[in-house]
Amino acid sequence: MSHNKFHVTQDEPHRWRNIEELVYKDEDGAATFKDVTRRVLFGEENVDGMEVRYFEVDAGGHTTLEKHEHTHLVIPIKGKGACLVGDEVLPLAMHDLVYVPSWAWHQFRADENETFGFLCMVKVERDRPTLPTQDELAEMKSNPEVANFIRHQ
Ligand code: MN
Repeated sequence: MSHNKFHVTQDEPHRWRNIEELVYKDEDGAATFKDVTRRVLFGEENVDGMEVRYFEVDAGGHTTLEKHEHTHLVIPIKGKGACLVGDEVLPLAMHDLVYVPSWAWHQFRADENETFGFLCMVKVERDRPTLPTQDELAEMKSNPEVANFIRHQ
């Protein structure tokens, strides 16, 4: 086992030594989500403005339906889940690559019976997420597949 500034080992799969489990979002009282945890794997110190997080969504849970200027690079590494990006609902397989462009609506959901874990890379300096207005939500829901997928309030 080693734990130093160059190398962090896992105590068990997806549980890195001395990397604490955080709440998914610690501000933004209006944002709705269910059963999501966050771990910052890289980004606590200076890593050239990049941050890599690990999110874990319990079975049946979901992240916030949101959009923002910054982009996400996502790689599923545990269990089973799906996501919305823009107007596309995407079933995800282990180690798929998901690109969330600027201002694309997005939401990640775990399977009803299985935990879903994914890596998400972002810039450290990034804008705050925006939540959908009632009009934007209605527009999204005009697509039946999207309406069936999204979870909001
Ligand atoms: Mn986001």
